[in-house]
Amino acid sequence: MTVQTLQATVPALRPLRFNFAQVCIWCETRWCELPRCIAMHERSLWAVCDQCDGFGSLGDDGMTACMCTHGLIEATPASAAKADGRALPVRPPYLDEPRFVVNARPSVGRS
Ligand SMILES: [Zn+2]
Ligand SMILES: [Zn+2]
Repeated sequence: MTVQTLQATVPALRPLRFNFAQVCIWCETRWCELPRCIAMHERSLWAVCDQCDGFGSLGDDGMTACMCTHGLIEATPASAAKADGRALPVRPPYLDEPRFVVNARPSVGRS
C-alpha cells in the first residue's frame, strides 16, 4: 500500500493552523483555542494545490489569487496518495514567459 510514502511526506505538507494574522484557518477566529479545530487540524491531510502548484496565484500574469490555503489544499487519503510524488515546477509559468512581447526592429526599408 501507499501508506508508507504518505506518512513520509504528508505531515511535512501542513499549513499552520493560524494564518499570519493569527486567524484560525478552520473557524476564522483569531487566537482560536477550540479543541474541535485543533483535532481537525491534527488529522487533516494536505497536498500541494493542483490549481496553482503552490504558488498561490493564477492566470497568465499571475495576478489572480488562488483560493487555496497558502499553496496547499486539504486532501483525502486518496487524493493525497495521488498527489504524492507529483512533479512540481520550481517557478510559476508566468515568471518564465516574457510579460511584454517586444517586436524586433523591422529590417526592411533601410540598411
Ligand atoms: Zn478555530
Ligand atoms: Zn492554489
